[in-house]
Amino acid sequence: MTSIVTSPLKMQSTTLRWIREDCSIGFVPTMGCLHEGHLSLIREAKKRSDKVVVSIFVNPLQFGKNEDLSTYPRPFERDVELCREAGIDVIFHPSAKELYPRGFQTSINGGELTKMYCGKTRPIHFNGMLTVVSMLFDIVNPTFAFFGEKDFQQLFLIKQMCRDFHKPVEIVGMPIVREASGLAMSSRNTYLSEVQREQATCLYRAIERVKNEVKKGNPNTRDLIATARNLVAQTPGMQVDYVHLVSGKTLLPFGDRAIGPARLLLAAFIGQTPKVRLIDNAAIPF
Ligand code: AMP
Repeated sequence: MTSIVTSPLKMQSTTLRWIREDCSIGFVPTMGCLHEGHLSLIREAKKRSDKVVVSIFVNPLQFGKNEDLSTYPRPFERDVELCREAGIDVIFHPSAKELYPRGFQTSINGGELTKMYCGKTRPIHFNGMLTVVSMLFDIVNPTFAFFGEKDFQQLFLIKQMCRDFHKPVEIVGMPIVREASGLAMSSRNTYLSEVQREQATCLYRAIERVKNEVKKGNPNTRDLIATARNLVAQTPGMQVDYVHLVSGKTLLPFGDRAIGPARLLLAAFIGQTPKVRLIDNAAIPF
């Protein structure tokens, strides 16, 4: 039986009871509009834990003024159905008023990395995201929490926060789930037309091109970044936000040569009004 809980206090008392009963708790935080990417996290959570909580909450703290908070897709009934089919125990679906009552002040600051990459175009995004994730962890008390590598910078910052704050939760990163075309699944793909969906595959094609260049023996990071950037920029309808080749360990950019595990991070805008921002990334084996 899947139940829907909106009250943070009720959610907290439920998970504290489960802990007393010696149950492990798997937690999948989402903003809803669930797709196969979310479902892959949910399935892993089911595999590893006695109880599974999925949160569905479009967090106002992580949206900038001109972003898509009001238009973000919210097909709640369908999401509930998918969670039921997946055998989830509780859907935690609070309102913004319940999570952030009048007078709410406290926030988490993830430091320098929150201003880089996606943080450049979305300056308040990561601190807003960390604040809600920290709060959700305190409400849900998870043993394991599952996040997609799709949002690689997010995953990195969450691991950093849990280390810094000694949070008693194991963060599990899961691989990116893609459409057959290579397009990384995203709730924001619902904004795209058929033509744009095709154009948006350039992010994946850029990743594949870089992997091929590395295989051929072109390890100069600046050349590789230029290759990916050009491929995206030359695709009609696309406008590059950033392309970076960074250390998978520190998330900081490499110089001319990559040392150790490398990650290619890409972001691009598609369309005019409204402009949709898409992200993608991949491990690059040097
Ligand atoms: P969201 O609802 O967009 O906030 O995403 C909720 C969780 O699902 C985050 O941990 C995302 O990284 C993850 N996620 C979203 N899209 C994908 C995908 N295509 N593959 C794997 N995980 C994903």
